[in-house]
Amino acid sequence: MALSGKTAVITGSNSGIGLGIARALAAAGADVVLNSFTDRPEDHALAESIGKEFGVMARYSKADMSKGDECRALIAEAGRCDILVNNAGIQHVSPIEIFPVEKWDAIIAINLTSAFHTTAVALPMMRAAGWGRIVNIASAHGLTASPFKGAYVAAKHGLVGLTKTVALETAREHITCNAICPGYVLTPLVEAQIPDQMKAHDMDRETVIREVMLDRQPSREFATVEQLGGTTVFLCSDAAVQITGTTISVDGGWTAL
Ligand code: NAD
Repeated sequence: MALSGKTAVITGSNSGIGLGIARALAAAGADVVLNSFTDRPEDHALAESIGKEFGVMARYSKADMSKGDECRALIAEAGRCDILVNNAGIQHVSPIEIFPVEKWDAIIAINLTSAFHTTAVALPMMRAAGWGRIVNIASAHGLTASPFKGAYVAAKHGLVGLTKTVALETAREHITCNAICPGYVLTPLVEAQIPDQMKAHDMDRETVIREVMLDRQPSREFATVEQLGGTTVFLCSDAAVQITGTTISVDGGWTAL
């Protein structure tokens, strides 16, 4: 197995893209540490089921990515971290003038600052192991903007900037750092927006998905969590050794427009 012997920590991975990435890394043989801010029996059961399904060590570790000390403790308590996937993220949509300050602070903390904290603790572990992969889950909004998503767009552009900086600081150490920029992916975060959009536009589900949500995604298809898992595994493979400090779009052509 390509990644056996490696330990991967995936932030925000009890749902959606993070869970898809954790499953793909486990399928490739990596031991995985799943994370979110909750500490429910089903969180631990999820990790246990991944461990059984793929024959790897899998555990769940609660840590709130809005808090710097918990971000750092997540990595420290993992014991080793060969692969770090900074995936935890939230969204809020509002014009700047009335954007709630606490939402701005939370988005910057969870979507951007958490990656600074986790990376700071993971890098010495990667250097000691002589190998490391950092994969930051940014967004098409790390490369382009949309109105009313000021905090999210700022955080994701910031994450792309952090990605380039970390890549330069590690370029001669067999450590790579890249950002994946997904377009729309059908996850709980996106699924929750569909009923409101149906009401707002007086459209059925399929029309909202095609004409409203995927308006900027030329393929008119969602990317899938499996495709993002596959992209992450590729970035951890030997074929990707010279890929560092860059972005990979998985967006059906969004950023080509
Ligand atoms: P999701 O809501 O399904 O998953 C988000 C994950 O982050 C969950 O596991 C959640 O529990 C976790 N999380 C939220 N707040 C946290 C906190 N304070 N501490 C720890 N964990 C926390 O959403 P998703 O669509 O899978 O999003 C995952 C990442 O992908 C996010 O960074 C998001 O910005 C990015 N992304 C998503 C899309 C999309 O269309 N779904 C597109 C581009 C980028």
